[in-house]
Amino acid sequence: MTALDIRERPSPNHDSRGEPPHVRPINMLVLHYTGMPSAAAALDRLCDPAARVSAHYMVEEDGVVWRLVPEARRAFHAGVSFWQGERDLNFVSIGVEIVNPGHEWGYRPFPPTQMAAVERLCRDILSRHRIPPYRVVGHSDIAPDRKADPGELFDWPRLARAGIGLWPLPAPGLARRRGRGVGVIERAGALADLARIGYGVSIGTEEVALAAFQRRFRPERWDGRLDGETSGRLTEMRMAVEAAQAAETQRRRTRFN
Ligand SMILES: [Zn+2]
Repeated sequence: MTALDIRERPSPNHDSRGEPPHVRPINMLVLHYTGMPSAAAALDRLCDPAARVSAHYMVEEDGVVWRLVPEARRAFHAGVSFWQGERDLNFVSIGVEIVNPGHEWGYRPFPPTQMAAVERLCRDILSRHRIPPYRVVGHSDIAPDRKADPGELFDWPRLARAGIGLWPLPAPGLARRRGRGVGVIERAGALADLARIGYGVSIGTEEVALAAFQRRFRPERWDGRLDGETSGRLTEMRMAVEAAQAAETQRRRTRFN
């Protein structure tokens, strides 16, 4: 593993994370794709005062990492967002932009060199901040009605294997009815799982949140339709979140006793 090669390109687009006693701790990592035709165009936009957008880091396809905003400052990447009951997620998060033209300009796989750099950068961030694995998210997880990034080609399983975020393990004995619809009771349980994991679920927007979940955790099909396969993944992911939350609670108890 080579050391992180970070280049500096300060963006003017940041402000305070809050003044004491109202500073919220950094406890979330949000991954994006740039969704611009080129890396140069993305870098220009993230540093343009008129655009009022930024991120803490940007990772190019060849693995070059740019630092745009110091982690202690609030960058402008999440926008209107929601996760696990919380809003205004720029206050508590570190944002990483990953260069990819995105669905608008020719979405393509993230090269292994780029993923290796993303992995190293994320591990470095996680080593410095207390960010639980269930708070490593994609932009589409926290703003599913507006955003699709980093998208279904992003290698979340690779990051999870490196200890970055969660990936649900198959629960033994869980019936899989691939492609089949689910009944009313199973549907209610699945939507409860979706909310428990962290997604904003409200009447009329269930399909949008389901599609965001699928895009990340069942990327073969993200049509927002709740079939048996999606329902099973939701159960497995909810169990993974609960296990990680229990571990986090235990860790805090140990530390404060
Ligand atoms: Zn984004």
